[in-house]
Amino acid sequence: MTATTESLMLPQTFKFTSAEHGAFIDGTETAAGVSTIDTLDPATGRVITTIAETDNETVDRAVESAARAFEGEWGTMLPARREELLHRFADLIEENAAELAQYDALEGGKPISHVESVDLPLAVEQFRYYAGWPTKIQGATVPVSTSDTHVYTRRIPLGVVAAITPWNFPLCQAAIKLAPALAAGNTVVLKPSELTSLSSLRLAHLAIEAGLPAGTVNVVTGTGAGTGQALVSHPKVAKISFTGSEATGRHLGAEAGRSLKHISLELGGKNPHIIFADADIAKAAAYAATTAYFYSGQVCFSGSRLMVERAVLDDVLSAVEEHADALVLGHGLDRSSTMGPLSSATHREKVERYLNTVSGTGATVAFGGSRAKESGYFLEPTAIVGPADTDPVVAEEIFGPVLVIQPFDSIEELVPRANSGQYGLTAGVWTRDARKAHTVARQLQAGTVWVNTYADYNAAAPFGGFKNSGFGKDCGPAGLDKFLDTQTVWMSLA
Ligand code: NAD
Repeated sequence: MTATTESLMLPQTFKFTSAEHGAFIDGTETAAGVSTIDTLDPATGRVITTIAETDNETVDRAVESAARAFEGEWGTMLPARREELLHRFADLIEENAAELAQYDALEGGKPISHVESVDLPLAVEQFRYYAGWPTKIQGATVPVSTSDTHVYTRRIPLGVVAAITPWNFPLCQAAIKLAPALAAGNTVVLKPSELTSLSSLRLAHLAIEAGLPAGTVNVVTGTGAGTGQALVSHPKVAKISFTGSEATGRHLGAEAGRSLKHISLELGGKNPHIIFADADIAKAAAYAATTAYFYSGQVCFSGSRLMVERAVLDDVLSAVEEHADALVLGHGLDRSSTMGPLSSATHREKVERYLNTVSGTGATVAFGGSRAKESGYFLEPTAIVGPADTDPVVAEEIFGPVLVIQPFDSIEELVPRANSGQYGLTAGVWTRDARKAHTVARQLQAGTVWVNTYADYNAAAPFGGFKNSGFGKDCGPAGLDKFLDTQTVWMSLA
């Protein structure tokens, strides 16, 4: 099924047609350089619009604008007023939800019903949650063992934050960075992925409409190697807040080391999703399929490595296949779609290269594995049964609709195998035995463990990985902490 031509048009309220659009600095859109990038609709391969590759000089203007706002109106604003403005920002995201959802559905290819029911509420929740914080950021008095001395700490913002986001959750990821960074009193230059810039640009307009001072939120569009690199290496950037691939994370870690900037890294995952034989198998299998194929598996916490107690392997596999069969592949703006395309032709080829490694390993492709539809970058929901822990399809993040399924026979065997991967983002455990659930959960090397559920997410609950999945939590007080520093003041009373 495909969407109608009318519904594929960009919302009229905010149309991008030229490189004049592409950087939002000091409260207005601005010309951003000479070269441009075509943004493609991944469901058709057609050009949606053109964005600017923001050049170094314009990136510099964006950072200078953020630095001025930090020294000026935003940095000195009373906390209660900052709270008010962040709530107003959240109101405007809600009021413009229908338009914002279309950008992510169109550019990202994700079903619009998912954007509306998942991404939008999560983005609003970030602003609501962190809007409550500015009046509660406190230092402490310190009981030092020195006579006649008063020591206290102040929690202070870092300055200009470079927020770099991936293409898979453009609006959400922008909110996850903007809300705590702003609540802490920082200003931001946001660089969205070159594949999905529109919702971030629209957010910058809404920030101004909400009353945030010009320069508090700036956006620069463009590639990572060009615009992104110019941003993260700018001397006035105090902090890099990055979400994306492990490879880019390592590169930015080195960049932060060179210039001694604060950095937090939210990277990839290959997440063990474990089903014991005593679990509610129907429910567990439904979650297994949903979390593996949601957004075509292009989710960092996708339950992409399903580990099933051998006795129930066949039951789980057939239930997962039934769920996969029921998925409706289609255009992001088509309301009947429940699974969209992969993000680009290059990305689909990368996923297919993983599928090609399966033959000759002893594993089997249980279903799927082929391209779906004639246009766009669709791939069928796929399952691979029986790969070894060291096979690339198990050891690496595929980031596609490819579920690997592995049997296990005991907890003793399961835990070291589940921990054998390089990543440590999330894990899931399904069992009716509470003791078993807690025993396994505490042994798993994963930043988040879900028991008898999967993929729950809330602005109040810290989220972030161990090992190669990065460091620095999103959400909760920890999500705010990473945008703050501590100043200690010693005062002699002698
Ligand atoms: P990516 O690393 O290719 O790009 C992410 C962002 O970094 C983009 O905006 C890109 O332009 C920018 N970038 C690239 N090189 C740069 C450089 N040298 N300097 C500055 N910026 C640069 O990742 P992607 O393909 O967009 O996203 C998918 C990855 O993101 C997956 O690995 C996924 O697991 C991960 N991810 C993690 C989380 C999490 O919370 N842990 C959430 C979403 C996505």
